[in-house]
Amino acid sequence: MQAVAIVLAAGRGERMGAERPKTFLELGGEPLLLRAARAFEAAPSVGRIVAVVPEREMAAARERLAPLAKLLAVVAGGERRQDSVLTGIRQLPEDFDGVVLVHDAARPLVDVELIEAVAQQAAATGAALPVLPLVDTLKRVRGGRVVETLDRAELGGAQTPQGFRFALLREACEAALRAGVTVTDEAMAVERLGHAVHAIPGSARNRKLTTPEDLAWAEAVVAGILRT
Ligand code: C5P
Repeated sequence: MQAVAIVLAAGRGERMGAERPKTFLELGGEPLLLRAARAFEAAPSVGRIVAVVPEREMAAARERLAPLAKLLAVVAGGERRQDSVLTGIRQLPEDFDGVVLVHDAARPLVDVELIEAVAQQAAATGAALPVLPLVDTLKRVRGGRVVETLDRAELGGAQTPQGFRFALLREACEAALRAGVTVTDEAMAVERLGHAVHAIPGSARNRKLTTPEDLAWAEAVVAGILRT
């Protein structure tokens, strides 16, 4: 099975409080984007990597990613996440019949084991993603009042990489675009088509770095101060 990784780094990352987009911030001396892409470079099932970055970071990204042997393209992302994914998809040959793994560069600590598990499940069933059980009890709050307590046992946090057979992902993303629907992940686009999406166990290490506190946590993990 041959997989292509689309690594998304075109978001603005507003909550990091930095000048540059968050995926260009450094972790252990390396931009998050490079660290995430290197995990896919090391994954045996991945043949090619497409990086999606902000227009003005294209030259810098090309330079930093140049050492990756599997790099197929560095392209400019779109307004929403799903627009960035579509740009990535369009880099692949029409007749590609493998699996596409869509990953947030904001999850730079993803490991090869998780990548391979998602790729295998996606190849077998069409669509798969890692899901992490929730630790907090979840409340639906309206106007400052709790209106419902949700059953935590049935809920989980969706992570990436999310893997799909190429034709299914393309159809799902194009259908969302045609319908004018905004989706927050690719699985949601596939769910809309009524296709089953398989959940595999996520990992705490594969946390999305959203705030400066998350970045400090990741620095401690990379430095070996914290074990995950
Ligand atoms: O903003 P958020 O943390 O949800 O973004 C998740 C991932 O999607 C990040 O890696 C971000 O760079 C990417 N993204 C993108 N294009 C957008 C918005 C987000 O590539 N327009």
